[in-house]
This record gives sequence, structure tokens and C-alpha cells, in this order.
Amino acid sequence: MPGYELIGKEEKNEIDDIFNNGSILFRHGFDSLRNNRYKVAKFEKLFAKKLKSKYALAVTSGTAALRVALSTLKLNKNDEVITQSFTFVATVEAIVEAGATPVCSEIDNTLNMSPESLKKLITKKTRAVILVHMLGSPGKVDEIKRICKKQKIILIEDTAWGCGGKFKNKFLGTIGDIGTYSFDFAKTITTGEGGMIIFNKKSTYLKAKAWHDHGHENNPNFPRWEDTRKSSGFNYRMNEMQGAVGIAQLGKLNKIIIQQRRNYSLIWNKIKNLKNIKLRSIPKNSYHTADALIFIVENKNIALDCRNELLKVGISTKILPEAITWHFSKKWRHIKELKYKTYKKNHLRDSEKILNRCVSLPINYYMERAIANKIQITLKKVLSK
Ligand SMILES: *Cc1c(COP(=O)(O)O)cnc(C)c1O
Repeated sequence: MPGYELIGKEEKNEIDDIFNNGSILFRHGFDSLRNNRYKVAKFEKLFAKKLKSKYALAVTSGTAALRVALSTLKLNKNDEVITQSFTFVATVEAIVEAGATPVCSEIDNTLNMSPESLKKLITKKTRAVILVHMLGSPGKVDEIKRICKKQKIILIEDTAWGCGGKFKNKFLGTIGDIGTYSFDFAKTITTGEGGMIIFNKKSTYLKAKAWHDHGHENNPNFPRWEDTRKSSGFNYRMNEMQGAVGIAQLGKLNKIIIQQRRNYSLIWNKIKNLKNIKLRSIPKNSYHTADALIFIVENKNIALDCRNELLKVGISTKILPEAITWHFSKKWRHIKELKYKTYKKNHLRDSEKILNRCVSLPINYYMERAIANKIQITLKKVLSK
């Protein structure tokens, strides 16, 4: 979780660098005033390099990143985009905003998309799949990629929570066709609000780049007001202050994940021998970001007991169980496009069964060792009842 915990002099120096060099806050133009400072462009370049990818596009949020990614597909309401039932509401909102119909798959013990469920949901209308690396850990990426490839469906990875994580030595978000990232204030690195998109194809990148900027192609042969355009678009441009903070935060990404993983292990080692407790399944060969430690207990009541007892000693649980309403699509009756009226009684029953038994402990950068002991003592009390 902790980008926000590490905002300090590096971020301030990057911001000062803008104000000491012409104070240009717009990513484009004003060349004679800015002393060669282009923070957003530099952030994109560094981000692409870090993730061993070629094409990165900075945008205003993780939600915008998904929306801009989908703009490259020119969707309408007869098109379906499949994502998973356990995600943040933004994934489905972006599909709705892009004009397509969202469909949600079941999850499995990885807490991410179930490949079996995905297979059953694919129809002639399916144009894209958005798999989500929920809370920093990948799901069955290989199988899902194989399914999409075989059916010629675009694979987007919502990596809002998995920036810096890996699967088989490839960074999360660079495995499918497009990867999206969020830098909101609760994510691994933050720019206050912000997002990034990684593309594996130049043509898709160029389409998205123009669309996120009113169709501007930023043709070097023309001034901006006479710029060439091939399509309309919208405005999802990141500004220079966000770019500046992003540069500094990116430099801290490794250190953040290493520390989160340390804290995660410390806690897990204290509780792993408790009765009937198991870790969310994390695929072999993956390097998860340890954003949260999610464990699964026997039933819903025990999960709620864990939550209540932890709360009594001042330890909150993250999303599970309490914030399920914003992270489980079965609960989103306000989103009419989800067509919940046509759902059968057992709709998303597997997901619900798993999620009801999950407890999620937030992992921070700064965590006192004493917290691990406190968690151990509290959970022991609940689980040995
Ligand atoms: C945070 C998040 C988003 C949205 O990102 P914002 O930057 O907050 O708009 C999208 N998907 C998932 C899975 C997220 O966790």
C-alpha cells in the first residue's frame, strides 16, 4: 500500500525543479520557457524502461487508464468485455463508459479470474478480457493468456494493484496486450491521482495516445493548433506535477516491494500454524507485491470474528471482509449495465463462497514488529475456539 508513506524530499525536489525552471505544468509545448523539463514524458520513459517494455502512456488515473485502453477497441453495447467478480468497481465502470457490456467471471483460490469460468463466458460478442491482479498477486495468467490467444481476444491486465509484481520474470501488466496501472493515493506508488498504460504494440499505443489527448497526434511538423488528427478523443492527460512525483516514486518501487514482502513474511510466519488457516493461493513463479496478506478461514462467521477481534486491538482489515460492497460485482445493483436481473440464483456463488471466508491484512512500509505479535495473539484466540 505504501507510496504515500514515502513522500519526501525526492518528490519535493522534482516538483521544485519544475518551479525553478519556468513553472510549465502542461506536458506539451512552451519549449522556450521550460529549460528542457518534460516530467510526464520522462516518467513514461522511465516507467517503460523499468518494466522492460517500449510504450508507456501516462494518464490521469487508473480508471482513465482502463478507459483509454478500451478506446483502442471501438466498442459498442453489443460487444462484451469480461472481467472478474472480485475487483474494484472502476474496472466495470470503464467498460460501461467505453460503451460495451460488462460480464463478470468467477474467481478461484488465487482470488483472481477463474480460467474455467472465463471459458464458459466467452461468446461471439466477447471483444476483450480484463484480468485483474487483485491486491498485488497474479492469478492463472498463462491459462488465461492461452484462452484469449486461441479465441483472438484482446487481453488487458488491470495492474492497478500489482505495479512491480512479476509472473515468470515478466512484469505484471506486460504479459497481455495492454497493462494498466493506478497511482492513486492507496497504491504501491502514488502521484496523488494518476495512471499509466503499457502497450505491446506501437500502433495501439499511438491510437491510445491520440485518443487521450483529443485526437492530437503531436505531429512535430505543425504547431499544436494545426496538429494532425485522425479521430476525436478526450482529455485524460497527466500534468507535470504528477509526472514529477511519479519520477521520484518510481525510484522507490523496488524498496517498497522488498519491505512489504518482508513485513508480509513476518506476519505470515507468526500465524501460519494456527488452526484451519490458509493463505490465498499464489501461483508458482510469481513475485507478488505483498500489498495485503489475505488468508482464508473455515467459514464466514469465523472471518467476521477475526475482523471484529482485530478491530478491537486497533488493526483494520483491508477490503475483506468489510469493503466487499465496492469490490464484489454481485453487490453492484446500481450498475444497470451489469444486467443482474437476468442472473440466476447461483450467480457468482463460487466467488461469494470464497470471499466470505477471506480476511485481508493491510501491509504497510512502516510496520512495528509488535504488530505481528498482536495479530498472532488475536487470531489465536479466534481460531482456537
Ligand atoms: C485503484 C484501482 C483502479 C482505479 O484506479 P484509480 O487510479 O483509483 O482510478 C482500477 N482497478 C483496480 C483493480 C484498482 O484497485
